[in-house]
Amino acid sequence: MLNIASRTAYGSDHDQFREQVRKFLGREVNPHADRWEADGITDRAVWRLGGAAGLLCPTVPEAYGGLGLDFGYNAVVDEEFAYAGATVGFSLQSDIVADYLVFYGSEEQKQHWLPKLVSGDVVTAIAMTEPGAGSDLQGIKTTARRDGNHYVVKGSKTYITNGQHADLIIVVAKTDPERGAKGTSLILVEADREGFARGRNLDKIGQNAADTSELFFDDVRVPITNCLGEENKGFLYLMSQLPQERLSIAVGAQAAAQRAFDAAVAFTKERRAFGKTVFDFQATRFTLAELATQLQVGWAHIDWCLARHMKKELTASEGSAAKLWHTEMQWNVVDTALQLHGGAGYMNEYPIARMWRDARVQRIYGGTSEIMKEVVGRAI
Ligand SMILES: Cc1cc2nc3c(=O)[nH]c(=O)nc-3n(C[C@H](O)[C@H](O)[C@H](O)COP(=O)(O)OP(=O)(O)OC[C@H]3O[C@@H](n4cnc5c(N)ncnc54)[C@H](O)[C@@H]3O)c2cc1C
Repeated sequence: MLNIASRTAYGSDHDQFREQVRKFLGREVNPHADRWEADGITDRAVWRLGGAAGLLCPTVPEAYGGLGLDFGYNAVVDEEFAYAGATVGFSLQSDIVADYLVFYGSEEQKQHWLPKLVSGDVVTAIAMTEPGAGSDLQGIKTTARRDGNHYVVKGSKTYITNGQHADLIIVVAKTDPERGAKGTSLILVEADREGFARGRNLDKIGQNAADTSELFFDDVRVPITNCLGEENKGFLYLMSQLPQERLSIAVGAQAAAQRAFDAAVAFTKERRAFGKTVFDFQATRFTLAELATQLQVGWAHIDWCLARHMKKELTASEGSAAKLWHTEMQWNVVDTALQLHGGAGYMNEYPIARMWRDARVQRIYGGTSEIMKEVVGRAI
């Protein structure tokens, strides 16, 4: 269990909420985790259950069916799900998509969608990446061409989290292709629109319970009122929201690293070699001490980031630095923890094997480590 005794970002209300999250995981997620992993997708039902338990989109204002809480509640869910190894796509909905609607949605869009995001009746996705453009988002080819009172959306997206379950997709598309970033908009596309099709649920090396898909838009007509915020301001909106997305990944990385460390401690205290436990070797204790030190520094930094973010002070560079450091740290901790398991670490029956597979993508999605260095470097 995560030790929260020395945490500074949270109050007693967050701690009580954490108890609810833990109970939810024990009741509705952990018993199904292996099946979901094998199926490559979670049950759709977990979304409504999560909504009913108050775990989805805690920051959405009460006027739109939410609880109007601070981001600390999102972070509690992120930490507990990551510590449990639950790769359910709640954080994408709560930490990323909901705020696009809250900040840039029209009153009508907010009234219509936000209560459904909170309840889990609607699952959402955000589709930026394309087969030909990921890091270089300005290179996207998907277009949303004006035709009277409609946009006609054409293009394809890939690696989209929640793609199989999604009922609503925020599509990043060029509304004025000549103007590059300044001609990019965010268009809401409902999954029941004619011309929309889901591709494969992609076969990944980890995070298998989280569905990841190709999405196709073949002249999908949506009303112009489906534009989120102002036309051609999409890139600006994306840049504004990325710090929270990156912090969310950093928070999960820290908690997942802690879980791997705890697993390594438990394993090495049991496993015997040369007449003693593996833990009794000084080499092991030194290795664990190094990991414990990284984790201690990491928790302090997460609390610092959360406090700054809740005061709206976390900068794009700080959010990127957090994603860079915590995901790289997670990889180091998880890989070292697997090594301490010996051959058992390579066996899927040991949880550390899945933690290792699940960790790999953290340094890639939400912006690669190299792109994080670009963002941090540019701000120096
Ligand atoms: C499991 C998973 C879930 C995902 N979920 C989503 C989602 O929900 N929505 C979505 O839109 N996308 C999603 N993605 C896509 C993800 O954000 C991209 O894969 C990521 O941003 C990298 O883009 P790319 O794959 O095109 O790699 P590329 O951009 O082709 O990068 C290839 C390599 O080149 C490096 N590189 C690129 N540019 C530079 C540079 N300027 N300087 C130095 N090195 C550089 C990269 O760091 C990388 O090492 C997901 C990806 C995965 C794997």
